[in-house]
Amino acid sequence: MANHQARKRFGQNFLVDQSVIDSIIRAIAPQRSDRMIEIGPGLSALTAPLLDRLDHLTAIEIDRDLAARLTQKYPADRLTVVNEDVLQIDFSQFGSGLRIVGNLPYNISSPLLFALTNHAEQVIDQHFMLQREVVDRMVADPGSGDYSRLSVMLQSRWRMHKLFDVSPDAFDPPPRVTSSIVRMIPLGADRLRAVNEDLFSRLVQKAFSQRRKMLRGVLGEWTSLIPWSDLGVEPTWRAEQVSVAGFIGMSDALSAAGVV
Ligand code: SAM
Repeated sequence: MANHQARKRFGQNFLVDQSVIDSIIRAIAPQRSDRMIEIGPGLSALTAPLLDRLDHLTAIEIDRDLAARLTQKYPADRLTVVNEDVLQIDFSQFGSGLRIVGNLPYNISSPLLFALTNHAEQVIDQHFMLQREVVDRMVADPGSGDYSRLSVMLQSRWRMHKLFDVSPDAFDPPPRVTSSIVRMIPLGADRLRAVNEDLFSRLVQKAFSQRRKMLRGVLGEWTSLIPWSDLGVEPTWRAEQVSVAGFIGMSDALSAAGVV
């Protein structure tokens, strides 16, 4: 593995299967002038073919040794290496029209997806490889066992498609789980959105905090403020039965009742 000892704490599982790499690059379909950002370039399995197709790429890598290798390997006018923890990065600095890609370290996937959701208006699209279980939760429909807080929060801001699975033997070292590629495209300005997005987020968190319990049992004093039948939601439902639009309606009803 090019003399690099994979570091578990950074979730380092490097892609080595060329046909999988080709499929991912085809799915991304880079165009020369794209403003692309790769998270976790590692040993450049995706970085190299991306750079073949792009004028310039920005890569964010936490591992100092890997970042140094990349800086040596590519001229600065082609590849900008940012040697930082992506969770500490303020994406506002990169401007708009961004295409974000990455074979993400599994341990940071949820916080990263939530952080990027705050910058969705700067983004054209995102292609990520993640643990299959996480992708299944991202794209799950209401009523399914995978439907969760992550599903509601991401589906309120992105259109998402699961593209294909990648088996552990495409990596060195192989991870213990199957991975999937997901495409995320921000919803437009005409999307349904809560009047108070912070309240929406707190409501969804609360509703899923005890997912086996009925909403009326989990929501406490908020229960009596919600016009249930107007919204087509029942207080006896569990959180996993409520659509994104249902949660937005509940949140707006709470706002109208004076909850801040
Ligand atoms: N893209 C390479 C590939 O497909 O073979 C490497 C993928 S590996 C699963 C994840 C990469 O993300 C590693 O290079 C790791 O060092 C880097 N990484 C882990 N945590 C990170 C963080 N918080 N910020 C930036 N990079 C991180």
